[in-house]
Amino acid sequence: MRILLMGAPGSGKGTQAGFIAQKAKVSSVSSGDLFRKNLSEKSELGILAKTFMDRGEYVPDDVTIRMVLDWINDPSNTSGFVLDGFPRTLPQAIALDEELGSVDKVIFFDVPNNDLIERLSGRLICRTCQASFHKIFYPSKNGMICDKCPDELYQRDDDKADVVTNRLKVYMQETQPVIQYYAKQNKLITVDGSKSVDEVESELEMALND
Ligand SMILES: [Zn+2]
Repeated sequence: MRILLMGAPGSGKGTQAGFIAQKAKVSSVSSGDLFRKNLSEKSELGILAKTFMDRGEYVPDDVTIRMVLDWINDPSNTSGFVLDGFPRTLPQAIALDEELGSVDKVIFFDVPNNDLIERLSGRLICRTCQASFHKIFYPSKNGMICDKCPDELYQRDDDKADVVTNRLKVYMQETQPVIQYYAKQNKLITVDGSKSVDEVESELEMALND
């Protein structure tokens, strides 16, 4: 079974990747995992990717695609896979189909924008011990003071609502054509990612057995 997971940052797809992989009896990997692996192993692709990152540039599609294909073509992944966060662009999706023929299921975690902004912009970090909290879902017992040490909590610039809103806008612009591409192939399964983790799991279980 070849499964792709799509969804904006904060949609919860990363949380469910392990569950889906276990149900489908395959391994899961995220594009972020593959970057970290190639960088830490200093593979040829990792070194190449780093030259772009060091210049503050985006790593080009073909480098990302080769990292993913290397992983897919690994003998331990021949029975299938769960790919989390790839493809992110239409050229990546087309390259994947050219290599594999096609995938089996594409699961899109649909979450309203306002929920995503609430989830992503609620994060607070301790200045001293770096402990991570959430204004709504995991607040510190001491308000804006860390409950693991006595220092204050702050919001990272990346987590500010306007930055988060812009990141989501970019994500939607990039991935809308990918979603349409798989919808046309009748591969797209949309799950309601605004529900609780348990409810999303039962929705996924039904979708996988289908
Ligand atoms: Zn602290």
